[in-house]
Amino acid sequence: METMGAIQDGPLFTPALRQPRSLREAWELKSGLGDRAVYVSGGTLLRTQWEAGTAAVPQVLIDLRKIAGMGDMIEAEGYLTAGSLVTLAACRSSSALASAGPAAAEAARQIAAPAVRNLATLGGNIASGYGDMLPALLVHDAEIAVYDGEFLSVQPVEAWLERRWSGSVPPGELVAGIRLPRRETGGARLAICRKVGRREAFTASLVTAALAADWDAGSRTLRGVRLAAGGGSGRPQRLAAAEALLEDAELTHGLLGAVYEAVESGFASYDDPFASEAYKQKTAGNLIAAELWRLLESE
Ligand SMILES: Cc1cc2nc3c(=O)[nH]c(=O)nc-3n(C[C@H](O)[C@H](O)[C@H](O)COP(=O)(O)OP(=O)(O)OC[C@H]3O[C@@H](n4cnc5c(N)ncnc54)[C@H](O)[C@@H]3O)c2cc1C
Repeated sequence: METMGAIQDGPLFTPALRQPRSLREAWELKSGLGDRAVYVSGGTLLRTQWEAGTAAVPQVLIDLRKIAGMGDMIEAEGYLTAGSLVTLAACRSSSALASAGPAAAEAARQIAAPAVRNLATLGGNIASGYGDMLPALLVHDAEIAVYDGEFLSVQPVEAWLERRWSGSVPPGELVAGIRLPRRETGGARLAICRKVGRREAFTASLVTAALAADWDAGSRTLRGVRLAAGGGSGRPQRLAAAEALLEDAELTHGLLGAVYEAVESGFASYDDPFASEAYKQKTAGNLIAAELWRLLESE
């Protein structure tokens, strides 16, 4: 059989496994080994890349799962912190995340299937630069904790994405976790994440869109509006023009058309073999306009 032949012809070697106990040790291993080693958390994304032939199996896997403290979610004053080894299954079922970052909990619910989510981690999803958690983290004003071999620092997701997509994140830099501000505004804060793939479930996303805002039902006004979209292997991004249209403006059916157009023209995506950039832009516009329409109809 052709496939058996392909398997037998492949290089039959098992990468060496290293299991550092600290961020520092992981970083030192990666610095010493360079391109011969990659970090691995759940391994679920790496596995798809190896199978698709888009990444080579490295000589050494630096397994991050023995690093203490990175699998915890902690409610601190003003923040919820989650370590990079928190699994997507834990994100999905966490009441603390459902409260501090409902769109992120919803994003986790829509990724892959239980067997994958039990292994897949928040850190791996973020470190890819395009995981479906990222649009949700953008609308929650999340920060990413990174370790650069010397310091652990936090930076807004948007700033980290800018570094990641401009190629200025050094190969050894580690994602240590996230920090989500806990909002004490009272009132109703909308937080939604929607994903469209090529089929209903267990599918890679073509477009993932997220929305968060405070809703004043009396004046029918949105404040603190955050819109973001991503999907596939495209760059997750805030949709600033559409946010500006909605901020502090009375939400009317008339405004929805302008918001749709601002999302469609503001969302930079890419053509792939299954969907054009134009299709993804329209889809992002429709996802966000539909949620706002639903809000108007629910009043
Ligand atoms: C069937 C299937 C369906 C999937 N569907 C989706 C989907 O719908 N949406 C989606 O977003 N993803 C999807 N994925 C991809 C993947 O499961 C997730 O993105 C997952 O969160 C990746 O986490 P991981 O821990 O497995 O990452 P890994 O595979 O371990 O690593 C991913 C990348 O991040 C690097 N890395 C890992 N941890 C760190 C860290 N702490 N610091 C720095 N770099 C690190 C690795 O070197 C690698 O480059 C799917 C995968 C499969 C197999």
